[in-house]
Amino acid sequence: MTVLEEARKVLQQYYGYQEFRKGQAAIIEQIMNRRDTLGIMPTGGGKSICYQIPAMLLPGVTLVVSPLISLMKDQVDTLDNIGISATYINSSLHGAEIDKRLADASSGKYKLIYIAPERLESSSFIFLLKQINVSLIAIDEAHCISQWGHDFRPSYLLIQKLIHQFQPKPITLALTATATPQVKDDICQLLDIPGQSCVVTGFARDNLHFQVVKGQDKDAFIYDYIEKNRNQSGIIYASTRKEVERIYDFLNRKGIRAGKYHAGMSEKQRNDFQDRFLYDDIAVMVATSAFGMGIDKSNVRYVIHFNIPKNMEAYYQEAGRAGRDGEESDCILLFSAQDIHIQKFLIDQSSNQERKDQEYAKLRKMIDYCHTEGCFQQYILKYFGEADAAPCGMCGNCLDDREKVDVTKEAQMVFSCIKRMNERFGKTFITKVLTGSSDKKIAQFGFHKLSTYGIMKDKTQKDVNELIDFLTAEGYLRPADGTYPVLFLTRKAVRVLRSEEQVFRKEKIKAKQIAEDNLLFERLRAIRKEIADREKIPPYIVFSDQSLKEMCALLPATTEAFLRVKGVGRRKLEQYGKIFLQEIQDYMNEQGIESVPAETAAVPDPVPRSAGKEKSHHISYQMLQEGHSIAEIASGRGMTERTIETHLIKCADEGMAVDWSRFIPESCRQLIADAVEQAGSERLTPIKELLPDEISYFMIRAFLQERKQQQDVDSADKQTQATYIMGGKAT
Ligand code: ADP
Ligand code: MG
Ligand code: ZN
Repeated sequence: MTVLEEARKVLQQYYGYQEFRKGQAAIIEQIMNRRDTLGIMPTGGGKSICYQIPAMLLPGVTLVVSPLISLMKDQVDTLDNIGISATYINSSLHGAEIDKRLADASSGKYKLIYIAPERLESSSFIFLLKQINVSLIAIDEAHCISQWGHDFRPSYLLIQKLIHQFQPKPITLALTATATPQVKDDICQLLDIPGQSCVVTGFARDNLHFQVVKGQDKDAFIYDYIEKNRNQSGIIYASTRKEVERIYDFLNRKGIRAGKYHAGMSEKQRNDFQDRFLYDDIAVMVATSAFGMGIDKSNVRYVIHFNIPKNMEAYYQEAGRAGRDGEESDCILLFSAQDIHIQKFLIDQSSNQERKDQEYAKLRKMIDYCHTEGCFQQYILKYFGEADAAPCGMCGNCLDDREKVDVTKEAQMVFSCIKRMNERFGKTFITKVLTGSSDKKIAQFGFHKLSTYGIMKDKTQKDVNELIDFLTAEGYLRPADGTYPVLFLTRKAVRVLRSEEQVFRKEKIKAKQIAEDNLLFERLRAIRKEIADREKIPPYIVFSDQSLKEMCALLPATTEAFLRVKGVGRRKLEQYGKIFLQEIQDYMNEQGIESVPAETAAVPDPVPRSAGKEKSHHISYQMLQEGHSIAEIASGRGMTERTIETHLIKCADEGMAVDWSRFIPESCRQLIADAVEQAGSERLTPIKELLPDEISYFMIRAFLQERKQQQDVDSADKQTQATYIMGGKAT
């Protein structure tokens, strides 16, 4: 058996996953060939497995340096639960306990030991550590070693010395999600990793739906969103402690059990809330960016940024905490122009001018993200250096089909009113003048005599406030830097006043439900919670949301079928198989669903047939080739049609042939072709806008794919021709 075959066996038997994710196999192979390696993968990309599987295959012990205590316990619990022996050593333990764990380790009881970097400052600890046969040192969150990174930890610098304490020298594996060249160089240099031993995977996370909501009432949005997704776990990031407290109070007043987390709370309070969040006792965590580094909770279904973060690095890291389990999740940023001031203020606190300029430039990119009309995911990937990234087809912009309404006249009313009030007031007062309020202050300033006084009295104050928010978010109005939110007209507004430019407004973005309600899922979730409470581990360690969803889709009736569920390895089958199989059986009986052998099943068989074809989008593809419609595949697999559509596109991107013509009604073909001719093929929305509603996004995508497939064939033909000609010349 080759090294990779052995590694895959561990992946299947212990973790219950059929295939490696991108990068994992390459990293594991390098490690097994004793090459020191730096692995760069996005948050949630699956870095842990890259050292855990070698740990199982190598003799002796793997030492894992990890910066957060809470994370260690979580990782050790997770390993325990799948039958891999591991332990951790950090400041939460007494000296005697530490000695015992080290002694157990040297007698071979553990395959992995997690240690906090601060431990390396103790020479007696190092002395004991040296008694252990260490074959691999894994450095998690390796960017902590770099002063350029955002979480520099001085004790990470001690790791290099530690490595040389062992005879023979252990293999080194550094892992991080930060890919800036400076950080990468630092890690390689400080840990003696050759630059060519770096494995970098793509940064795309194809289960994340990005969205930006601009100039809308944020409280109303989050409330609506959480209501619609009551059962789901999510994080709301805000930029200040005060804001966290306010949102926390607001949600709790509304009857939503939310937690809070920021550096101004006591450690005990923070840990309390964090645990309740991990254990699914509270669904929503409201937090500053202090929260999350120690969180590997895999079933976070949404991350909402209530305020704009300082840069794209921070945003992608925080947003990336959604959907680690690979299930569809939302990353929503609530943009308001006012929030930019907070970030500018924070940057100004830095004394170093060079650093300041750098941070300003990064903030600029973050603001541009909020205003991009292109694909959000594509913007992110380009930012991280993936120049050839394609539109994702599932973010807020890719799927934007909202109507545009001309509000030029209303905008002109607002702008001219602000101008007449000499640009000295904030939103609320401007609104009062526009709606003709009888507020005494208006008369004091003589504003009741303005021609714009009461010019919008047919509208409610709320409507006008929202209009002003929209105009601010779109950059027609600029809030002043000070604490009092005075609004100024920008050049853009002046052009509108001169009727040189029109203003279009789209309807509001409404909160959506991420996952449809599913009775069986709720029942399995309840069982998971019971088991978790009994075993005192977080529910996502028992099973991920993804595993539960697969159970709902596959309805396994036998242990073999249960083993085919993603995330079910041998140990989980032994521990939990019976109780989950029973619940599924009960459900099927109650609902009158018959379990039929796969071969005779009337619904498409969602069970993959051979180990090599386990990738989700390949399963959809195979079912399509067998003649099922997208709707049938979706219902058979318990997924949305949109997901299946995305699967097919992905297959096409991988070079698999899809007969796109079956998705393009003949009568639409010419219409789409004309629209593409006119709008170009860069973005979908402009094409969609030129077409009747009946023509879906998917039809357009199918058309573009078909065209691309055709072009590829053409250019391949040309190439063969060219080779042929050259060949001819040579002879
Ligand atoms: P990272 O450390 O890169 O942020 P983790 O190692 O915590 O990510 O993994 C994130 C999630 O992905 C975990 O729930 C893990 O079980 C899952 N995962 C890892 N590798 C695979 C795989 N090959 N197939 C399916 N799920 C995987
Ligand atoms: Mg990790
Ligand atoms: Zn997109």
